[in-house]
Amino acid sequence: MNAIFRSLVGTAISLTLLGSVLAADGAKPTTQNRSEIAAEFRWDFSPIYASWDAWEAGMQDIDGRIDAFVKLKGTLKNGPDAVLKAYQAFDDIGKLQYKVYGYTALQRDIDTRNQDVSGRFQRVMALFAKLGTATSWFTPELLSVAQPTMEQWIAATPALQAYSFTILDNYRQQKHVLDESGERLLSYAARFSATPKATFQELSTSDIKFPLVTLSDGKEIKLSPGTYQSVLATNYKQADRAKAFEAYLKTYAATTNTYAAIYNGVLQHDWFGAQARNFPSTLEAALDGNAIPVSVVTNLVDTVRQGTAPLQRYAKLRKKLLGLDNYHLYDGAIPIYKTDKTYPYVESRDQVLASVAPLGADYVAKYRKFMAGKQVDVYETEGKRSGAYVSGIYGVGPYMLLNHNDTQDALFTLAHEGGHAMHTLLSHETQPFVMADYTIFVAEVASTTNERFLLNRLLQATTDPKERFLLLQHAVDSIVGTFYTQVLFADFELQAHKLVEQGKPITSDVLNGIYLKLLQDYYGDAVTVDDLYKYTWSRIPHFFNSPYYVYQYATCFASSAKLFKDMTTGSDASRAAATERYLTLLKSGGNDHPMQQLQKAGVDLSKRETVQAMVEQMEELVAQMEVEAAKIR
Ligand SMILES: [Zn+2]
Repeated sequence: MNAIFRSLVGTAISLTLLGSVLAADGAKPTTQNRSEIAAEFRWDFSPIYASWDAWEAGMQDIDGRIDAFVKLKGTLKNGPDAVLKAYQAFDDIGKLQYKVYGYTALQRDIDTRNQDVSGRFQRVMALFAKLGTATSWFTPELLSVAQPTMEQWIAATPALQAYSFTILDNYRQQKHVLDESGERLLSYAARFSATPKATFQELSTSDIKFPLVTLSDGKEIKLSPGTYQSVLATNYKQADRAKAFEAYLKTYAATTNTYAAIYNGVLQHDWFGAQARNFPSTLEAALDGNAIPVSVVTNLVDTVRQGTAPLQRYAKLRKKLLGLDNYHLYDGAIPIYKTDKTYPYVESRDQVLASVAPLGADYVAKYRKFMAGKQVDVYETEGKRSGAYVSGIYGVGPYMLLNHNDTQDALFTLAHEGGHAMHTLLSHETQPFVMADYTIFVAEVASTTNERFLLNRLLQATTDPKERFLLLQHAVDSIVGTFYTQVLFADFELQAHKLVEQGKPITSDVLNGIYLKLLQDYYGDAVTVDDLYKYTWSRIPHFFNSPYYVYQYATCFASSAKLFKDMTTGSDASRAAATERYLTLLKSGGNDHPMQQLQKAGVDLSKRETVQAMVEQMEELVAQMEVEAAKIR
């Protein structure tokens, strides 16, 4: 029931720290001192609470309401009015939760050094833990009422109908809930099921020893995930990139059997959980929470395997333009062209607002109003957390955190987060509280669609081949990272889990073999796939921390490609209808299972053509890059 943590939709964007000295209006300020930055570019927390005293009162208010909620225990069998009363009481607590959480979490993020705020944040977490305990009786008691009875109650009580989806979804999931002794046994198992994850964390961070590498200029660097990425993205000497790659992957190769044993622990845990709860496969168990059909993942994996041609075409283009005899995976991040074009914030904001004009006047007006308010924290300041995210506070609105540094990445990040902010705003203002929050499965559709609109506008505005090439490349690199790579990951997870389900052994040879074969299948003869790359799986935290998660990045991307195509091609009438469906999706919050929400918007992820639209978009963009590249001198 607790939705507040899902509302924090974040993306980690790496920062380029440029010592900018631009003084033009809206350009990145030269100071990192917060008090010297104009108020219009800083968060104002007063719409949440006027003061810490008001926040304190909010904390007291929740505390009292928690105590009152506990007293409702045992009343649900009395009928629809009792069920309604409990849900409404929970809503009131939930709305306050957003506020007490947001007021502290946001202030912590603009100055992570502030101990006073950290202390208050910990108090919020303690209060939420108390809430969890105080409400644990609710779902089991609700489910003790027979489903047909509950359905009658809902039908006869108009005010309860807003809760219908939530209530009935509890019954749907009940099929996989065991009896009391079974659940008790599983709760004991939960205590050690986190062990593989914890072991991975220690081996891959605390205990890992990366070597020193001497580059061709004689400079010695200590490898780390950060310095390794930096060599790949900035060092124009291929031999240096090769050297860093070899040393980096050999670090994982040295303990490959241990990584395989840990990953086997993850796989066995997933299979244990699936069998204990009567699921036929680990995939079905993983997808049940959001009622996603298995065909979504299998269709994604199969279609992309057959749609790797544009990925290979892009690698070949990069090879040619970089003038390399052999193209390796470690050559994928080095820029082909350099540019000194900058994108100051105010100009970026205007571009982003103008780019979504096809979504209609109402969308643009609300977006403009949000961007003009003091709920966007624009610039990097001392102690502020890195990256960018949107956090929605129900009843107050979204808060957007940026670290705008005038780069092209920052411009697209603004469009991306703007998509999240508008999704939050429209869902919150349209849906009742209980259904206001959307799932991750839909969230990245809103953000990537806005990025695509921005790309379109910027391409229309310039004929300069180099600028066009860099814009197209940004889009293509996003597709490689967020679509192709994530589907390859999903394919790996699926194959590994299947072996465990079939009782087959999991060894480092088996896992390395799956990974190497996938790289060869995806890149064909366009890339020289070095043997050491087979160890890559051991350094992907998602495999260990949240199995069957990454496919969602790819389905969101594919959905957004399909929606964008529907909204921008075809007759006026069909474009208008597609746009209306898309806006309805943004307003739908969590009022249905995500697959159904997308279907209503015209996206069926179990169909091949949906995923194929992404492959086609990639093909088109790479073809345009080739055209622009030919014009650059
Ligand atoms: Zn995002």
